[in-house]
Amino acid sequence: MPKHIASGLKYLAAVKLREKGYFQKDIANKLGMDRSTVSHYLNGRNLSWNSIEVAESITNCCNRDFLHVTYSLTGDLENTQTIVDILIEEEFKANVKDTCIGCGVCVDVCLMNNISIVDLKCHINNAGCCGCLDCQINCPTHSIQILEVQIPNK
Ligand code: SF4
Ligand code: SF4
Repeated sequence: MPKHIASGLKYLAAVKLREKGYFQKDIANKLGMDRSTVSHYLNGRNLSWNSIEVAESITNCCNRDFLHVTYSLTGDLENTQTIVDILIEEEFKANVKDTCIGCGVCVDVCLMNNISIVDLKCHINNAGCCGCLDCQINCPTHSIQILEVQIPNK
């Protein structure tokens, strides 16, 4: 069953990419699937509607739960990052305070591989942040604040 739900998540990601104008070949490359499977998915074949409904309910969870559940279902970090990146539409901005001691805890907890330590300070790539808040929650010096950014015309 977890495999079917992971397929449901991939289906939702494939549909989103299609809406954005991606070709089947590019969707297949991005999601690590073969083109015929993508074609079947986009034509509503080879997938139960139950799996899609469960996948949709996972995407409606908070971003942290969505990220962690997707990782536990796919068992593949790269796939998880791709699916989450496609399906989470909000954008986030990170503020890192001077109290950062460069311990690297935030680097270790970020499943999106989005944080690095430069000159003993935490640097967060806003573009790759899914807003899971794992870094903010786990920082021992409370140095990180993740804020949702309003996107113009959205
Ligand atoms: S966990 Fe906090 S203190 Fe440690 S590197 Fe990250 S921001 Fe700095
Ligand atoms: S909120 Fe923090 S841990 Fe989560 S993706 Fe963004 S930078 Fe990574």
